[in-house]
Amino acid sequence: MTGLRAETAARDDRAYVTLATNADYAIGAAALLRSLRRTGTTADLVVMHTDVPGDALEPLRQLDARLVHVDLLPTSDAFNQAHAKRELHGAAPFTKGEKPPFHTPLDNFAKLRLWQLDYRRAVFIDADALALQNIDRLFDYPEFSAAPNVYESLNDFHRLNSGVFTARPAEATFKAMLDRLDQPGMFWRRTDQTFLESYFPNWHGLPVFDNMLQYVWINLPQLWRWQDIRVLHYQYEKPWQDHAKADQLRVLIDLWHSYARGDAVPDLAALPAPGEA
Ligand code: UDP
Ligand code: MN
Repeated sequence: MTGLRAETAARDDRAYVTLATNADYAIGAAALLRSLRRTGTTADLVVMHTDVPGDALEPLRQLDARLVHVDLLPTSDAFNQAHAKRELHGAAPFTKGEKPPFHTPLDNFAKLRLWQLDYRRAVFIDADALALQNIDRLFDYPEFSAAPNVYESLNDFHRLNSGVFTARPAEATFKAMLDRLDQPGMFWRRTDQTFLESYFPNWHGLPVFDNMLQYVWINLPQLWRWQDIRVLHYQYEKPWQDHAKADQLRVLIDLWHSYARGDAVPDLAALPAPGEA
């Protein structure tokens, strides 16, 4: 298997998998790992990472994650150029929120390395998310399942969000994906998300509660019920950043910090509803 190197052996045949290509996303991954541990899951917790500084990885090791070094995908120069930050933001600007300075669009495609891992079943979760409840049932869902990209309107149901998805790792799938991904002239405007939607046109829908996007708190408050949310996903601006929407998202950001610090987590049912905070 080329392109990845595991530090330790697998301990289970199911894994939650995330990705960190820099120290910022390693901070996110640590909070995610803490949240997953609290759900009582016995599946492996895997962090795929590139050449992240060693001291950024140490907390992940302390949390008993399985670290797997991955290379970025061996995509062509033309592909890399088309998906470089400046080009992508120019050709397909983000109008609804801001991507953090440490976000590199090209790095997203490394998620596809998940298909090379030695697990029977995997659930991918972005490093900017928290599991608020046990989601082990997702291991029984078929490949490929994902929640809709809902954070503004009903239109959002047409598209998936690749922050949470279910997969059956297989090297053959990975190879087939690479072939499809990097064809001459190909441009995936929302990177892995657009690619996965195209690769799995008959994707299975998960409930929005398995990948609740933070903007729902602002834009679709009627969808928000703390006791229903199983994965909370901080798309666009990150909770460990100083950012323009921080005041509006304060309750969610405080919750993220209590997970990140390893503090006692507040009773979720007792948290304020949107608009009440
Ligand atoms: N990611 C990464 N480095 C990057 C960009 C992305 O490690 O430079 C990983 C990380 O796991 C992150 C995921 O890919 O959570 C997707 O990016 P992000 O969550 O920032 O996108 P959003 O959810 O805002 O669309
Ligand atoms: Mn994300």
